Amino acid sequence: TSSKADGAADLDNMSGVRHVVLILSGKGGVGKSTVAAQLALALRQAGKKVGILDVDLCGPSIPRMFDVEGHDVHQCPGGWVPVYPDQDQRLALMSIGFLLQNRDDAVVWRGPKKNAMIKQFIGDVVWGELDYLIIDTPPGTSDEHISVVENVRQYHPDGAVLVTTPQGVAVGDVRRELTFCRKTKLPVLGVIENMSGFVCPHCTECTNVFSKGGGEALANQFNVPFLGCVPLDPQLTRSLEEGQRFVDAFPTSTTAQAIGRVAQTL
Ligand code: ADP
Repeated sequence: TSSKADGAADLDNMSGVRHVVLILSGKGGVGKSTVAAQLALALRQAGKKVGILDVDLCGPSIPRMFDVEGHDVHQCPGGWVPVYPDQDQRLALMSIGFLLQNRDDAVVWRGPKKNAMIKQFIGDVVWGELDYLIIDTPPGTSDEHISVVENVRQYHPDGAVLVTTPQGVAVGDVRRELTFCRKTKLPVLGVIENMSGFVCPHCTECTNVFSKGGGEALANQFNVPFLGCVPLDPQLTRSLEEGQRFVDAFPTSTTAQAIGRVAQTL
């Protein structure tokens, strides 16, 4: 628990943030950070002011995805100033990746140090006015997760978006994630099925590589909304590797449109 003075500062920094959305996944590699980043871009395209908070201590990928790796964050009297990749400042980024000297530093941190960092991270960023704050969490349901949820609770988050892939094993992971949300009383906004079908780079037709619909079936089973499918798209992979903003670069693609539809549900 924080001191009274800390608490007041925390509330100040988050007071201009209208919606707080956590992005969760049962395990790594299902595209959680990708979905977080592209959803943020889709919201921004819809005229919203958006922030992304990357609390994935051991695998911060937001700086790379926005081609701002190595940027320094500055401290002002109110806290940390986020990185604004654009002149218009309608997109604000804060990642543990900006603060680590070495990408691998946090790997050896013990639990209390991680928890202290997460707590500070959630309350001490000077966001200003934001329509949406998207929080990219670590994979799974670790102690870090509990720490994120506990620290974010006072800001009344809208809830969590769960990212899964169509394979059965990922669906099992999401089931645990849903249980985690129930137990920590974090509202569930819904489930996204990522890598759902393959967009052929030659004809742009979408083919189902894995059995599709696991995410939707799971959402129905647990009585939570299904927010939509995002296809496995080689162009999206390429964009991410090149630090290119996919949703901005290919706004009319099947995949960008799918992401846009999910963003509308938030
Ligand atoms: P996580 O945050 O769940 O660990 P990432 O977002 O880092 O996963 O994604 C893992 C890899 O999968 C990345 O290399 C990314 O480029 C790729 N990827 C994720 N979603 C898609 C998609 N819909 N289409 C193509 N590639 C994707």
